[in-house]
Amino acid sequence: MNSTITLPRHLPWYLLARIESCITRPFKTKVDRDCPTCRGRTVTKHMGPLDATSYNVRGFGPRHFDLVCCSDCDLIFLSPLPPDKAFEALYIRFPQFVGHPAYHGENAKAALQFYRDRLAEILSLRRDGRRLDRVLEIGSGLSLISLAAKLLDHHTFAVAQDISQEAAGLCPWVDRYLVGPLESKKEEIQGAGPFDVISMTHVIEHLPDPVQVLRLCADWLSKRGTIFVTAPSRPVGWNESSPFEMWKNWEYNHTPAHLQYFNRKSLEQCCLRSGLHLLKYEPDKDSFVAWLGCSSKKPA
Ligand SMILES: [Zn+2]
Repeated sequence: MNSTITLPRHLPWYLLARIESCITRPFKTKVDRDCPTCRGRTVTKHMGPLDATSYNVRGFGPRHFDLVCCSDCDLIFLSPLPPDKAFEALYIRFPQFVGHPAYHGENAKAALQFYRDRLAEILSLRRDGRRLDRVLEIGSGLSLISLAAKLLDHHTFAVAQDISQEAAGLCPWVDRYLVGPLESKKEEIQGAGPFDVISMTHVIEHLPDPVQVLRLCADWLSKRGTIFVTAPSRPVGWNESSPFEMWKNWEYNHTPAHLQYFNRKSLEQCCLRSGLHLLKYEPDKDSFVAWLGCSSKKPA
């Protein structure tokens, strides 16, 4: 069957052009949350609805969210943002780390080895030949990056920050463990820096305002320092014509804990707005590993 729409030719040309552009452009919709990297300067494409997957947030805000894509930077993100009470339920009210299999036994050993290898790689590529004097771990939980840094060099000074105090007493290798929102710890962190490595492993996807946090990190980073970021990106094998079910069934569909999913393009845009430079972007199945460094340019 021929699905081409034939428009009546007696209409004025400008009306025909307008109607054609409405038919051919992708479906766009007004959503409650602007792209957190482009801030409302672009349109977004609605991808589909996601139900909350976390039982902790039941009763604290909406149970259904829209997954949308920024047409400019390709960031895929949830809309609307959940209310503060939902964040409290997700990260403070209920335990996240103790007893969770992802943070213990063989999983923790594998993660620790992964971080040791990655820190050693960062260290080997430092052009000034210096060691990692100071490391800041944001959203640290059980602080495996700090432990990996200490195992590489016990002289490294490790500062960890987490919004929850659940793991604060479980990480004796951390020199200073700060409990509270990052914004509230600015002065203490500034005083303990500058840092050769700032890590955000599986953190950036949880941040309501990733640009704001990366701007803080840019201030705290030493001149040749590296921000080490890992995060989920896209379901394996997904592309724009794939069924939306792939997002619903993805193991990283943690709605509404995961607020956005970056790829190289959206992370570059986020860096540009934060006074940072994307040094390295490495896809890893459905996730990525990235290195960010200070940029000589001012934030866009
Ligand atoms: Zn965007």
